[in-house]
Amino acid sequence: MAFETFFGNEVLKNTVWQRLKTGTLPHAIILEGERGLGKRTFARLIAAGLLCANENPPCGQCRACTNVLEKNHPDVLYYETEKHTKDNFKIDTVRDIRDIAYISPNQAAYKVFILAEADLMNTAAQNALLKILEEPPAYAVFILLCEKKSAFLETILSRCTVYKLERVDDETAFAAVRELLSGPTDEEIRKCIELVGGNIGMVLDGLRGNEALRANEKALEIAEALCSSYEFDLLKVLGDLEAPAAKGILAALAEPLKAVCRDAVALRCGGEALIKMNAPTAHRLAESFTKKQLFALEEVAEELGRRVDRNMNRKLLLTWLCAALRTAVEYE
Ligand SMILES: [Zn+2]
Repeated sequence: MAFETFFGNEVLKNTVWQRLKTGTLPHAIILEGERGLGKRTFARLIAAGLLCANENPPCGQCRACTNVLEKNHPDVLYYETEKHTKDNFKIDTVRDIRDIAYISPNQAAYKVFILAEADLMNTAAQNALLKILEEPPAYAVFILLCEKKSAFLETILSRCTVYKLERVDDETAFAAVRELLSGPTDEEIRKCIELVGGNIGMVLDGLRGNEALRANEKALEIAEALCSSYEFDLLKVLGDLEAPAAKGILAALAEPLKAVCRDAVALRCGGEALIKMNAPTAHRLAESFTKKQLFALEEVAEELGRRVDRNMNRKLLLTWLCAALRTAVEYE
């Protein structure tokens, strides 16, 4: 069974498999999960399961399965936004989907529509989609992919069954990444999993560019510079981020910076640091600053993430970051 190729999420895989076997899969599905968990792959497995010619769907071997999994089946239609930003799943695309939905399938008993990033629809687009979901042709199955189902109107939610993809445990993540990447050492893989958790896609991204690890190192340098009494240290550490090659590090910096601040707060409250390799720096932060200051630093990291998402000019962003970090630790 091809579901075995998908790592973790055993309960969900079993639920979907039972539904496929008994022919009771809902015709409108929301597949929810954060970036990197494999929503697109899982949606294709569901589609293969619907179209599979064998007893144990999706078998992964028959012609229908192979075609679907290779994104090459005329009855599985796949939609993706161009810009991956809010409101970018356009109403015109939804109208196209409606027109195509009312044309019978080419070869299969079903016509499957996979709408990646469906949560990027605005209200008008969602209402247009609702009209199709209210009166769908019997052969149509809609799989809406999203990071958070809360982006959908109640009326859409009430017509869909929500399936949620979860992170996997560290061992599963390690096995998955080891199988998929030959470059990094076991130690690098374990470090990256410790940083980003059981999100296989994000671990892969991190290792491919090694940016998660480099961003973590940079976050630690920033934290150390804040603890140092030399103002120049912070300027120097942030100055390195101006180089064009550091673009990816800056983009990935918010998460590790937040994490080390969070660990420092935990230590200050008598708890433990979650990320072991960052513990010495988290300890220094906890000794140097009050809880209030640490919360303020965490808030700066949070805001950094938002500003990076908005694609701010890098030089301006760094100037802001330097000032914001200083203000945060002056705050009493
Ligand atoms: Zn098959």
